[in-house]
Amino acid sequence: MIFFDDQEALPCGARERRQVERIREMADRGYRTSRRLKRMFDELEIRPEDIRSLEDLERLPVISREKLIEMELTEPPYGGFEDPAAPVDRIFISPGPVYEPHLSESDVLWARAYHAAGIGPGDVALNAFLYHMVAAGLTFHGGLRRVGATVVPSGTSGTEAQVQLIRDLAVTAFTGTPSFLMAIIQKAGEMGYDFRRDFKVRKACFAAEPLQPSLRERFEKEFEIDTYQMYGATEVGDVAYECREKKGWHICEEVLVEIVDPATGKRVPHGHLGEVVVTRYNPIFFLLRFGTGDLSRIVEEPCSCGRTSHRLDGIAGRVGDAVKVRGLFVAPSQLRKVAEKFPGNRFQLIVGRTGHEDLLTVRLEAGTTDPGLERSFRDSFREICTVRIDRVEVVAPGTLKEGDKPILDQRTWT
Ligand SMILES: [Zn+2]
Repeated sequence: MIFFDDQEALPCGARERRQVERIREMADRGYRTSRRLKRMFDELEIRPEDIRSLEDLERLPVISREKLIEMELTEPPYGGFEDPAAPVDRIFISPGPVYEPHLSESDVLWARAYHAAGIGPGDVALNAFLYHMVAAGLTFHGGLRRVGATVVPSGTSGTEAQVQLIRDLAVTAFTGTPSFLMAIIQKAGEMGYDFRRDFKVRKACFAAEPLQPSLRERFEKEFEIDTYQMYGATEVGDVAYECREKKGWHICEEVLVEIVDPATGKRVPHGHLGEVVVTRYNPIFFLLRFGTGDLSRIVEEPCSCGRTSHRLDGIAGRVGDAVKVRGLFVAPSQLRKVAEKFPGNRFQLIVGRTGHEDLLTVRLEAGTTDPGLERSFRDSFREICTVRIDRVEVVAPGTLKEGDKPILDQRTWT
């Protein structure tokens, strides 16, 4: 079967209607049972029935991890977001500390991701996520079980032990961080094994750490491991996952994702970069609009895998690292993408102001004045960063130094 379930192929209109229903239900139930939500709604003079569309959610504040920690400190253990009468299966702890009364084991957490990666019955999966305190180990374990895989709960045991498990148990799939898989592969080499020839690991699903394209290429070409990225946050569970097309991450059916301007909490148009804000439909913990602090954008175009959900275009960085130009974020990771297209031309962005307008200047190193280069640079930049360059200043090679800031923000706001 291509999809985990038929929800993944819902027409977009039907998905949106269902999203609104679920959000309304959550607001309604939360208002009746959660002290925090009731207070929040009352202070804002909103009634649950005022939430009629996804846009209406914008009336509620975005809650960052820092804010959540603060709220839980003043109102332990769950900040008043919980239904105190609801039975809780398990409680996870993440740094802060943040306490999470968690969804039950029967939830589909991460199962969509593993299914999309082709993991299922017949696979023996090594789960190298931490199993104690945090949600990771057990929830990834649950997802693997849900798709029918046999799980080896190796957690964060040492690399030598992991190599032994992979060998003895004929492990076919790995889940954990990319850097840990690479450390295991290296250890296998030191132990005299040829990872590709001697072992059966052919799939890997990563989370909790960015997968660098160069590392991905090594896994896939050198070790013949098909790699997939998964994205989530401990407060809200799984959020998005890669399908076999590997062109963006499909948003899970159990969450609502908004891409917002962190300054205003309002949504930005599809395709624009903004903060990833997640609401998980949850009947016991009413955390509406959790701000992840991660930057991404929505890809609306249909995916050739047939899933109809919107996709996230990877994670472009953290909100604090990006600079806003004419209301649009430019993140260092986007600049690295531009740099990959122009390997011989170092560049630097200068953001200034003329009157009430932002002015974006690019200092571009080039040997000769090549109008073609300038044009293609402008086009690529616009395509990747969505922002238009106002002025290109061509400078001689060697003008920009290794340690120069990629973005100089010269605006003053006084
Ligand atoms: Zn797809």
